[in-house]
Amino acid sequence: MYRVDSLKAEEFICHEEIEATLQYAEENKNNIELIDSLLKKAREKKGLTHREASVLLACEIPEKIQELFTLAKEIKEEFYGNRIVMFAPLYLSNYCVNGCVYCPYHLKNKHIARKKLTQEEVKKEVIALQDMGHKRLAIEAGEDPVNNPIEYILECIKTIYSIKHKNGAIRRVNVNIAATTVENYRKLKEAGIGTYILFQETYHKESYEALHPTGPKHDYAYHTEAMDRAMEGGIDDVGLGVLFGLEGYKYEFAGLLMHAEHLEAVHGVGPHTISVPRIKHADDIDPGAFDNSISDDIFAKLCALIRVAVPYTGMIISTRESKEVREKVLPLGVSQISGASRTSVGGYDHPEREKETEQFDVSDQRTLDEVVNWLMKLGYIPSFCTACYREGRTGDRFMTLLKSGQIQNCCHPNALMTLKEYLEDYASEETRKLGLKLIEEELKKIPSEKVREVATQHIYEIQEGKRDFRF
Ligand code: SAM
Repeated sequence: MYRVDSLKAEEFICHEEIEATLQYAEENKNNIELIDSLLKKAREKKGLTHREASVLLACEIPEKIQELFTLAKEIKEEFYGNRIVMFAPLYLSNYCVNGCVYCPYHLKNKHIARKKLTQEEVKKEVIALQDMGHKRLAIEAGEDPVNNPIEYILECIKTIYSIKHKNGAIRRVNVNIAATTVENYRKLKEAGIGTYILFQETYHKESYEALHPTGPKHDYAYHTEAMDRAMEGGIDDVGLGVLFGLEGYKYEFAGLLMHAEHLEAVHGVGPHTISVPRIKHADDIDPGAFDNSISDDIFAKLCALIRVAVPYTGMIISTRESKEVREKVLPLGVSQISGASRTSVGGYDHPEREKETEQFDVSDQRTLDEVVNWLMKLGYIPSFCTACYREGRTGDRFMTLLKSGQIQNCCHPNALMTLKEYLEDYASEETRKLGLKLIEEELKKIPSEKVREVATQHIYEIQEGKRDFRF
């Protein structure tokens, strides 16, 4: 039985409800009257339910899809402006006891080199990341209670936050590790993490079990209920995601929104972010073996619909996607992207060893400077901001800021100040020139005169060598 506020995975991600949703969507995909009413509701910018959004996903009428894309762009502009937050993944260890059939870290893969960073190596990776200009990381690790226990992850987080190399600092560490206990989530919270990210991979229980045949991750309920435990442990920024390509995208989309609705119903706050990874080639893995892969057009439609259905949830796109695809979906609602990512353990300090330990092929191989330059040429402000969580604006407090319309007086100047830091410390000459001009123009767009004055002053102070201002 479907119950949005149940704490049981099979009730809040109820298979029968998803099947009924898909049937309803299929039956109504040409129902113009309904589709128009859904688009009208979406224009209120308060989101859509999984049933409503699924009808729009099923709809293939070109004019209606165009309306949806236009609306996604509008929402993105109103809620997130032209800021794009930058981050990089940091792989700590590829030891893993699970059997995920799509991931090269699976236990039975004997030709991948296993590696776990020592604290000295973590330090080297972090310095390499700081020297590029990164301020925000997502740490990644396989699941292995012996090699990567929670103590190891906590020690790495401590090391990462402690390193202050030149003007560099990692100011926010997000964590993408396997589902764990409330107690461990509490420890992660105490260690000062930002978002806890865990991809569901697939919401389809039967497929989930087949795709994770062995290891602790096999337990669908334990994995699906992880976000509830994380929130119980005090983490109020959680990030959802589906690995597109494993199962039918319509099923996954309905499941993803039901998960978001569930978190809102139980904890009073929806997911902080949604990631949209697509399966990639990797050692021992042929993406062609997964026949649910989605085209770039469907991918764009999914991004637009996520933006419209959950306007308050940030959307993350990784370097799994090429420059071209990223360019296509950025305006549709993406708020965070990674840059210059290495998906191998130790890959920042030793890029030449990339192929030995990496998790998947990276499509966008540009340097961070190239990505920053490209974003600015497209009219975006690359932001290295980490202010919200450091000011305690997490969970519903972050949502309140979003809903208050004060973003332009807060996130906008923060983006400009952190971009200025990047330009002073790490940018190439061309990027610097482009950025300084952009900052000058964008400062004018801060609505409050007072905030504008303070931000302008801080930007001058950054030039003079000061760092780390925030609203
Ligand atoms: N090991 C952790 C867990 O069990 O949840 C998560 C960390 S894992 C390094 C990060 C994510 O990479 C996985 O959740 C999965 O969705 C994704 N991934 C694994 N293999 C992939 C592939 N071949 N292509 C693209 N993404 C992949």
